[in-house]
Amino acid sequence: MKVSSIIAAAGLIAPAFAGDKGYGNDKGKKLVTQKELVKDIKLKDLLAGAQKLQDFANANGGNRAFGGGGHNATVDWLYKTLKATGYYNVIKQPFVELFTAATIDFSVNGVEYPASYMTYSPSGNATAPLVPVANIGCDAADYPAKVSGNIALISRGTCPFSQKATLAKAAGAVGAVVYNNVPGPLGGTLGGVGDYVAIVGITQEVGTTLLDLVAAGEVTATLDVNAIAENRTTYNVIAETKTGDKNNVLVLGGHTDSVFAGPGINDDGSGTVGVLAVAKALTKYKIKNAVRFGFWSAEEFGLLGSYHYLKTLNGTISGSAREVAKIRAYLNFDMIASPNYVLGIYDGDGSAFNLTGPTGSDTIEKDFEDFFKKKGVPSVPSIFSGRSDYAAFLQNGIPSGGLFTGAEELKTEEEAALFGGTAGTSLDPNYHQAGDTVENLSKEAFLLNSQSIANSVAKYALSFKGIPKPSVAHRKREAEASRFMVRFADKVAEEHKGHVHASPCGQGTLLQ
Ligand SMILES: [Zn+2]
Repeated sequence: MKVSSIIAAAGLIAPAFAGDKGYGNDKGKKLVTQKELVKDIKLKDLLAGAQKLQDFANANGGNRAFGGGGHNATVDWLYKTLKATGYYNVIKQPFVELFTAATIDFSVNGVEYPASYMTYSPSGNATAPLVPVANIGCDAADYPAKVSGNIALISRGTCPFSQKATLAKAAGAVGAVVYNNVPGPLGGTLGGVGDYVAIVGITQEVGTTLLDLVAAGEVTATLDVNAIAENRTTYNVIAETKTGDKNNVLVLGGHTDSVFAGPGINDDGSGTVGVLAVAKALTKYKIKNAVRFGFWSAEEFGLLGSYHYLKTLNGTISGSAREVAKIRAYLNFDMIASPNYVLGIYDGDGSAFNLTGPTGSDTIEKDFEDFFKKKGVPSVPSIFSGRSDYAAFLQNGIPSGGLFTGAEELKTEEEAALFGGTAGTSLDPNYHQAGDTVENLSKEAFLLNSQSIANSVAKYALSFKGIPKPSVAHRKREAEASRFMVRFADKVAEEHKGHVHASPCGQGTLLQ
């Protein structure tokens, strides 16, 4: 997925900033309290921040995809805003990745159907008969001679999309369409560049319609994939309190990039703005433990920014396993204002999904639960599926948690009874689409979750009680356990279908 040969030397990282020890530099400020930091979070500030991101998207082709104008404006705004406080050491951490995206037109017998891009698909424009492929298109023998010069229609399943795109090309197809084998749209990735035919994904429902049409006689399809592929430099923004104990650090964050299809104001403008609001509020106070804010880039392309950061922290530039061990906890906020929301908390103790986070993740989950309980609102556990930036931290054995209000999954009757909203409708009907705008945020969820972030940040800025202090060896064991666990996350998510909010935010990371 990553083109590692083009990754530039990572540049500066400076995870541990030299300078102020303890909190002696905060003269005149009072020690932070949970109650006060929560009170400092105001809806009007959150909405103003979300509007800012909307403006960046509007001025740049309607999106904030990494390395494009809308995303660069987001990064610069975060950098300047944090720097201006004087409270943080702020860096922009550069890295280079291949960016791909496309506009797609797909029609059959003159009727347009929605189709999703497969990351790394080449461009292509063909009008030709649609030819179904036998079985699931994982063998060359599945592709009949008639595929040559025509558009192949293939079921999802068993082997990677890249294999299907390669076999279709080898059979002489001029385009390929993969239909889902479960309900819902199908976006994905070919995992890297290759010798592919232009390929898109469609829903199971449209696939069935097209198979019926073909069974009734020859049908003509038009598939136009207009793809961009270019190396882009992009940046994580890292801000760390100048004060506080640098050997006991809280890290929290969200991702700054959107998908190409829309402005990404819930995903993840909401997390970005909620975390930023807490960063600004914190500047009024004295703290005991250092707090580091991570605004990750290129999450939608496969969690690239957060992994890049952990890699540089572990690596030779200025990091080490000891550097990673100073991170006592990581909190992730990716989609916290879904319009048809649930108040989801990552299941750190494994009680709901049996995918337990490193020791201390249970405490982090409980602290979020306690906040909602005190507010008199319900919450539900959300699975650690490994599909947001917390994955990089879990895989390094760092106790993690966070909040998630849901993506394309349908709201259940039970959830509607708990949270209101509409059962049978997506928690975020605009997920990864042009409609993910500032108008479509849930203000209630946005405010409540941002205050919940403030509550946990204030707590850990004072004390990590309940989150064990790790040795390097302990962290290594926890990291191994997490890597092992992640392999089962998809299976568990499948078993709990309809009850978990497992989706990435990066559906584009699906390989088969
Ligand atoms: Zn996201």
